[in-house]
Amino acid sequence: MSEEMILYVKPKFINEYKNGFPILTKEAISNWNDVKDEGEVVKLVDTKHRFIAKGYYGRQNKGYGWVLTKNELEKFEQDFFEDKIATALKGRAEFFNDPDTTAFRVFNGEGDGIGGLTIEYFDGYYLIHWYNQGIYKYRNEIINALKATTDYKAIYQKKRFATDGKYIEEDDFVTGEQGEFPIIVKENGVQFAIYLNEGAMVGVFLDQREVRKTIRDKYAKGKTVLNTFSYTGAFSVFAALGGAKKTTSVDLANRSLSKTIEQFSINHIDYEAQDIIVEDVFHYFKYAGKKNLKFGMVILDPPSFARSKKHTFSAAKDYTNLLKETIAITEDDGVIVASTNASSFGMKKFKGMIERAFKEMSGKFKYLEEYTLPSDFKTAKEFPEGNYLKVVFIQKIKG
Ligand code: SAH
Repeated sequence: MSEEMILYVKPKFINEYKNGFPILTKEAISNWNDVKDEGEVVKLVDTKHRFIAKGYYGRQNKGYGWVLTKNELEKFEQDFFEDKIATALKGRAEFFNDPDTTAFRVFNGEGDGIGGLTIEYFDGYYLIHWYNQGIYKYRNEIINALKATTDYKAIYQKKRFATDGKYIEEDDFVTGEQGEFPIIVKENGVQFAIYLNEGAMVGVFLDQREVRKTIRDKYAKGKTVLNTFSYTGAFSVFAALGGAKKTTSVDLANRSLSKTIEQFSINHIDYEAQDIIVEDVFHYFKYAGKKNLKFGMVILDPPSFARSKKHTFSAAKDYTNLLKETIAITEDDGVIVASTNASSFGMKKFKGMIERAFKEMSGKFKYLEEYTLPSDFKTAKEFPEGNYLKVVFIQKIKG
């Protein structure tokens, strides 16, 4: 990929790119039509043809590609990727040295200098996510760079982009010694069963590490906990270990039942003393309302967008209503953990939704604490949208 395509940055965007804005957007470039192949090296110049930055073309929901360097002579070869990965690994030394946490993100896209690429670590196994076809064109260089910089048991990958409109499920195994799944990893001393060979979701979302710890260490004790959109029940496990009276996990997906039983079991928690319910959360809210159930803690961690038989849920549109349903079944002085990974809005707007929900329910509340992405999910200061996670701990107050 030695040819470099010249892209003309429109005048009003020039300063942004000079200041390190990493994503190539549709609006910012005047000659996108010239670009043909995913992975093509693109050179950003101003209207007078002066060099600004260099990157690659790769379409994903966020944009049209990513800036990788401000050095005009840089070549995107193995050395370049090796440098980036080595720096990223060094930045995670604290995690590598912590025997209680053996799963974390070692490379976070543009935060570590390469948009479209993330790498996670699961106790010796590395998992690469390719977010567009462009970056996937550099797979040999990147995989060789990862091999050169780490002691890996094996490397796995997930392609998170469609080819000709279709997601092609391929073997996820790249190199090394195939794992026997589940492998058991640890997070702050708690175990997770991880499957690197079962599609994009491997068993845990690592970005919630601090939230899980906070639930266990500060809030769970003695509470009845409702965990909605619970997936493998990671929050429930932490709540139970923190001394919750009982947890109830609700998720629509059939797989969530066996996966949640497994998570409890590997942590020596009697799953039969917990409720694990496969159901649409919105149904469950109705049921809980009818039975007059109340919870001391409710955890809300919906996907940004989901379609079930009866509902289409979009965080941007429907979070306020989700909160209203939650407020109705939360005890006075109970805690609501409201989380969203929607990148289309920020913390301010999210808090606006929380405030509106309480207002419409004529309820009072207090903010307890809030979280965004943890440090291993490194973000670029020039691209705050990359810090998509918003988690707010709220206490419902007797009104
Ligand atoms: N909170 C989880 C991650 C949630 S992933 C964790 O901490 O690990 C999103 C989950 O929401 C998926 O497991 C999906 O099956 C579930 N889901 C989506 N729509 C739902 C609905 N209407 N009711 C219940 N679960 C739903």
